[in-house]
Amino acid sequence: MSLFKKSKSFAGGVHPPEYKELTENLSFEIMPNPKNVVVPISQHIGKPAKPLVKKGDVVKAGQAVAEPDGFISSPIHCSVSGKVKKITSESNVSGFPKEAILIDASEENELEKMPVLDPETITPEEIRERVKEAGIVGQGGAAFPTFVKLTPPKDKEIDTVIINGCECEPYLTRDYRFMLERTEELLGGLNLAMKALGVKRGAIGIEDNKPEAIAKLKEAAANYEGITIEVLETKYPQGAEKMLIKAVNDREVPPGKLPLDVGVVIQNIGTVIAVYDAVVKGEPQITAAMTVSGKGINNPKNIVARVGTPLSDIIEYCGGVKETAVKVVVGGPMMGVAQFDFSAPIMKATSGILVLTAEEVNDHPETPCLKCGKCIDACPLHLTPTKLSRFTQMDKLEEAEDLGITVCMECGTCTYTCPANIPLVQWIRLGKQRVIELQKERKSA
Ligand code: SF4
Ligand code: SF4
Repeated sequence: MSLFKKSKSFAGGVHPPEYKELTENLSFEIMPNPKNVVVPISQHIGKPAKPLVKKGDVVKAGQAVAEPDGFISSPIHCSVSGKVKKITSESNVSGFPKEAILIDASEENELEKMPVLDPETITPEEIRERVKEAGIVGQGGAAFPTFVKLTPPKDKEIDTVIINGCECEPYLTRDYRFMLERTEELLGGLNLAMKALGVKRGAIGIEDNKPEAIAKLKEAAANYEGITIEVLETKYPQGAEKMLIKAVNDREVPPGKLPLDVGVVIQNIGTVIAVYDAVVKGEPQITAAMTVSGKGINNPKNIVARVGTPLSDIIEYCGGVKETAVKVVVGGPMMGVAQFDFSAPIMKATSGILVLTAEEVNDHPETPCLKCGKCIDACPLHLTPTKLSRFTQMDKLEEAEDLGITVCMECGTCTYTCPANIPLVQWIRLGKQRVIELQKERKSA
């Protein structure tokens, strides 16, 4: 039962088992540097960065090894010191091979930093510049360059920055540990984001299953003007942007529109801590904090590892997999990506690695639709997942488009709730991609 009586929320959603107890009380461990790293030049939405190094170059941890290519792009920094082995296409936790810089690590561990800046006197322009220079991207999954989010179009009036502290995906406890272990940096980073955007209101939305973090944040936030802690119902996908804005600000983001169209910028917990570290400590984004969990890993942990560390190294650091393990997922179980190549490296936005056993994986056979309507009731965006899935299978893309398939946020709530085990979100994701292609073709015709 909740300790907080009036938790805010949204219509729809589901309550999957949380499994947070596996790691919620485990402090972050800093993983030792790997022997080699694979640093993808595209770890963000937008154009890949352009390499600045070549085979044989000696590089230092923190050094920029690829520069942004265009406005929506981000620099990439070397996560270890060493020598560039080669630049080539490598497999990746996103599921698609990407060009990457392979580096053999040396013993040296000194980090090349940027000059530190004073958070009291820094200007909005200097914050944006530093965030860009540090290569900070959103850590909530989409990896949108943070500099771009802090530079909204001039005709958009932003009045609120919301921090997503929901961490509504089962198993993951990275953000929870951040809230407990780096409370001041989190609030300081939010303050910097508010300053960059010139807004007076900041809010941290947090689910009511985290009473210890709520108490700690409320106490610390009392020292910051304009920042409130908003307690929300524990429900998946409470952390989705539209759900968060509805719960915190009571504003609806219309289909096809963005949070900034209703005056809001959303940032992830880890992202604003990275902003704080870039400004106050001069550190570029070369590490990723994540939860390694699931009943199939020997020693679940919360860890901080260098970007580019292979999955296999992290799994080994956590004691290896149990004989009962059947699946490895990067991210949470609802929206994460199943992995088949464990030499793939972690990236800036990697939030979790789950090693799951058969009892944690739904591999029940698919049966015909029961027409029960559960997927429709659960969809937080009031879509009709059953029809969207069926239209995709029948290649009726116009019909799927008319029903708003491009609005789907791929949260997986419908699939989770379906008693017939129909892989609804997988079909919808495919249909959405095809409709987007169709729309592009129409535009260029
Ligand atoms: S995946 Fe899309 S259709 Fe399914 S519940 Fe989420 S938003 Fe709705
Ligand atoms: S939840 Fe599954 S079985 Fe029920 S209507 Fe939706 S697709 Fe059909």
